[in-house]
Parts: sequence; C-alpha cells; structure tokens
Amino acid sequence: MTKAGIVTVVGAPNVGKSTLLNRVVGQKLSITSPKPQSTRDRIVGIRTDGQVQMVFFDTPGLLTPSYDLQRAMRSTALRALEDADVIVYLVEANQGAPKPLHEAADVEREPKAPIILTFNKIDTVSKGALGTLREEYPTAQFVSASQGDGIEELLKAIAHALPESPFLYPEDEVSTQSLRFFAAELIREAALEQLDEEVPYSVAAEIDEFREDRRPVYIRATVFVERESQKGILIGHKGARIRELGKSARLKIEPLVDAPVFLDLHVKVLPNWRRDRHALGRFGFTLPPEETR
Ligand code: GDP
Ligand code: MG
Repeated sequence: MTKAGIVTVVGAPNVGKSTLLNRVVGQKLSITSPKPQSTRDRIVGIRTDGQVQMVFFDTPGLLTPSYDLQRAMRSTALRALEDADVIVYLVEANQGAPKPLHEAADVEREPKAPIILTFNKIDTVSKGALGTLREEYPTAQFVSASQGDGIEELLKAIAHALPESPFLYPEDEVSTQSLRFFAAELIREAALEQLDEEVPYSVAAEIDEFREDRRPVYIRATVFVERESQKGILIGHKGARIRELGKSARLKIEPLVDAPVFLDLHVKVLPNWRRDRHALGRFGFTLPPEETR
C-alpha cells in the first residue's frame, strides 16, 4: 500500500519555508531570499520516495495584509492550509516559544490536518539551547533547512502522518508548475538580490515568449515596476543594472532548461500594480472575494 498527500509548509515570513522545500525536493523550485515576502504564490514540489509521495505546498508567509498583493498572498496560504493532509508549521529555533498555529495564522481554530511543529535554523543556536528546546517540545522536529540536519527525521514524521492513498502524480514529476513560471520567478529572484529598499517588492516578471526549440533557448520577458523612478533604478546608468540583472537571471535559468539561454529583458511601468486587482489577476494571483476581506 502506498501513502500520498499534500504537505503544506506554513510559517512567518523568512523562517526558511522555501529553503526547506528546495531541500526536500532536491531541486531548486522556490526562490529564497533574506528579504521577507519573496514567495508570492503557492509553489508545488513533489517528492516520491519508495512507497510514499509528498506533494509540498510552499506558501507565502502568513502576514497581516495591508494591500491587495498581500491579501492575495494570505488567501493563498489559507487555502493551502485547508487543502493539507499534513501541515509542517515552521518556526525559528532562535525566536523563543512559538505561538500556536491558529494564533499565528489568525484563524479561528486549528486546521483539521495533523500539525508537525518544526524548528528550523538549529545551526544558529547553541547545543545547550537546542537540548532545552528538545526537552520542552518532545514531539517537535528540529532541522536546518540550509545545512540539511534533521531532514530525514522530518520526512519520516511526515510519511508517518500521511494517509494511505495511491500516488497523486507520476513518480518522476517534481512540480506541477511550468518552466515559464520558474523562469519568471528566477528573474524576480535576481531582482530581489540586486535591488535595495522598496524596489524589489514592486517587481513582477512576465514571460512574453519562451522558445525551447531554439539554441540558445530564447526567452523574452518583461520586468514590471510601479513607478518611473523605479524603472530608472532598474535600468541603471547606461543600462548597466539591467544587464547585470539579466546576466544573473540567465545563469539561474540555464540549469533549469539545461541549455544556453538568450534572455531578452524589457522594463515597463505598471502604476501601483500591487494594489490593482486586474494587474494581480494578470500575474496569476487570486484575491479572496471582496466581502470576506
Ligand atoms: P521563507 O520566507 O520562509 O520562504 O524563507 P526563505 O527560505 O526564503 O529563507 C529566508 C532566509 O533564511 C534565507 O536567507 C535563507 O538562506 C535563510 N535560512 C533558511 N534556512 C536556514 C537554516 O536552516 N539556517 C540558517 N542559518 N539560515 C537559513
Ligand atoms: Mg518563501
């Protein structure tokens, strides 16, 4: 008999959810960044190992939304919680006692799926502090998503909690999202790395053309920002910044398509798109219905 189900990873921004997903899927699927809120949509990664298949949802951090993009992000995270068969509630080992999930997520009661409380970043605390945590939380898991410690134990605990079920996806599939989606995400990751202050949060990337049949693979993409001043920053002096950004994004995309890439990047202004329901829809975000906001 096989086991399979949806494993939703939730937690505050920056606790290491995307890093954990990339680690368990063994491939870079989700962009990671020291800047919070880098994950905007729910990312699916699939791990099939022997008789067990885990379909991971990486979620945007649970946060109190103050504009439409954040509302869409929170709604995505809440849906992923409802769909879960197992929830991995990720917290940081160096942040003291964690709040119960329903409090952190600001929902009325605990979700119905079993919750595995998981302390991440154990590499940042002393042996003594880790020992105390283990005593206080005997059923929790302790991992370092970036170093790999504790991951096997966590996977065992997840497998144990999953229901018996046929596999949900073919065994060799690692994601349900397209190369186009990942290419756009990697362009956004390059922008997050290279830009400071408010600009990275205003960046969205859209793939206009993706020609896998060409060598080099031809990708035409548009990077959207919210204001003319941001466009100037993104392009840089004589185009220096956008060239650097393009190069960095290209180097990230090439391993994904396993071929040389020609990345043709353009910059456009879409005023205040983060607060614009139509623009959000165009970038693939789903907003909750007006009345429940
Ligand atoms: P998310 O917002 O929860 O998806 O967090 P990310 O996966 O983007 O990670 C946020 C930051 O924490 C990044 O700079 C990661 O490199 C870092 N990080 C993630 N896991 C670990 C860990 O186990 N140890 C340490 N020291 N840093 C980590
Ligand atoms: Mg993330």
